[in-house]
Amino acid sequence: MNALISVSDKTGVTEFATALSALGIKLLSTGGTAKLLADAGLPVTEVAEVTRFPEMLDGRVKTLHPAVHGGLLARRDVPEHMKALEEHGIGTIDLLVVNLYPFEATVAKDGCTLADAIENIDIGGPAMVRSAAKNWRHVAVLTDAGQYEGVLAELRAGEGRLSDATRFALAAAAFNRISDYDAAISDYLSSIDFSSASDSQPPTRGIFPAHSNGRFVKLQDLRYGENPHQHAAFYRDMYPAPGSLVTAEQLQGKELSYNNIADADAAWECVKQFTAPACVIVKHANPCGVAVGADALQAYSKAFQTDPTSAFGGIIAFNVAVDEQAAQQVSKQFVEVLMAPEFTPEALAVFKAKANVRVLRISLEGVQRDGKSAWARGLNAMDVKRVGSGLLMQTSDNHELALSDLKVVTQLKPTPEQMEDLLFAWKVAKFVKSNAIVFCKDGMTMGVGAGQMSRLDSARIASIKAQHASLSLQGSAVASDAFFPFRDGLDVVIDQGATCVIQPGGSMRDQEVIDAANERGVAMVFSGVRHFRH
Ligand code: 5GP
Repeated sequence: MNALISVSDKTGVTEFATALSALGIKLLSTGGTAKLLADAGLPVTEVAEVTRFPEMLDGRVKTLHPAVHGGLLARRDVPEHMKALEEHGIGTIDLLVVNLYPFEATVAKDGCTLADAIENIDIGGPAMVRSAAKNWRHVAVLTDAGQYEGVLAELRAGEGRLSDATRFALAAAAFNRISDYDAAISDYLSSIDFSSASDSQPPTRGIFPAHSNGRFVKLQDLRYGENPHQHAAFYRDMYPAPGSLVTAEQLQGKELSYNNIADADAAWECVKQFTAPACVIVKHANPCGVAVGADALQAYSKAFQTDPTSAFGGIIAFNVAVDEQAAQQVSKQFVEVLMAPEFTPEALAVFKAKANVRVLRISLEGVQRDGKSAWARGLNAMDVKRVGSGLLMQTSDNHELALSDLKVVTQLKPTPEQMEDLLFAWKVAKFVKSNAIVFCKDGMTMGVGAGQMSRLDSARIASIKAQHASLSLQGSAVASDAFFPFRDGLDVVIDQGATCVIQPGGSMRDQEVIDAANERGVAMVFSGVRHFRH
């Protein structure tokens, strides 16, 4: 049995080749890899010896030769194939170990020029991988160091043989790798501005490539989609942001459903914005209670108060560890999904009694808050929405408001306490479906109006919500995700007791709305940013 080993990432390859050699497998290898193995004292034949052709063109042509591809592609069960190998003095290659030039890592580096990127496009490696994977009935192909251990164990147990199922799975993984690799090359090439490319300077890259090959990795099939008659599956980005929902570890509970996942994402992304201990309760993609507090228990209790009716069957997220007290309080209500960066053992013991509750631990490691880049903060970089036979892609709504961005437009200025409530309300409004009106006071939501076609109706609904929960809106702060087109919406929130308002501004009738605020004695600030969410 012959193995050909040609790897850029040489992690673990010496140990693996040593073990193959010990099993009596003959080793063939390309320049750099052959040298490494020979230096380790292994008997290894250079591919150049087999092809009787030197590696040439700076390594661009090493293995692109019938002596290699014939050995990989010949069907062992077709006598003519084997005869052809014999006629041309070609030996079979039964095991292929290849990992590719590091194209993805190269283009991810600052300062990578177009020439660097091009030199890192592997040609012979993918060609061999395709040949071996096509001939999976006879050849095993390894494309990742993570596969060495399992394959070795099976080779040892099977006296040098691998099962059909293993070779087939390796072939599927090999084509996945090749398709990811080609997608990375095509994304890179189609995103650069060619006129900006030079020998010494990295080219300018657009955010959106001409073809979107953005690849996803399946996490799990789902029982059904948004409704039981729809089929569904859950995928993650190839390179997920740290702290994103797809990195969650489910500690207990029923399988997550399609709607659970969508709602959990809304709750998790919303709660991650806060530095103080915070709790977000989501129902049907909208927050129905958000609060900050001294600890998880207080944050939850306040968030729950906003809308106890809607919170039933809610999706709850914390940005701090959940302890026993918080767990006991939460488990008094019907919960679908619970998320936090950590749970104390005592808290987990409380949830054990409620076996159906889905408990997710999501690490916030690598997620920095306060003015860090979206990526560093673990916010997902790209937002994708399907439309019939197409998709819309945009950068995520990662905008964070700083105090210095705010413009007071009324005679009255918000007090520091009001300013805090306004900023809190603004963070919540960003996660409420448009048109969004959010009343807040003392670090908690008091009424949330979501998803109405008229801003006026959202304002009315937010106040009805407060009435249902017997919360007084006197002295509350209000956030509106987009400008008030007329004064009527503002009048509704002031009638309900709001004394300060935050909104983007930018309406043709801003002056009418400012005049109304002045006339009614409330403070208003413009954020200059809109947060539509559909
Ligand atoms: P080595 O370090 O052994 O010299 O080179 C290993 C790398 O060369 C692997 O990443 C493999 O995919 C790549 N490779 C193997 N054959 C060829 C070839 O014919 N052309 C090119 N461009 N790369 C090859």
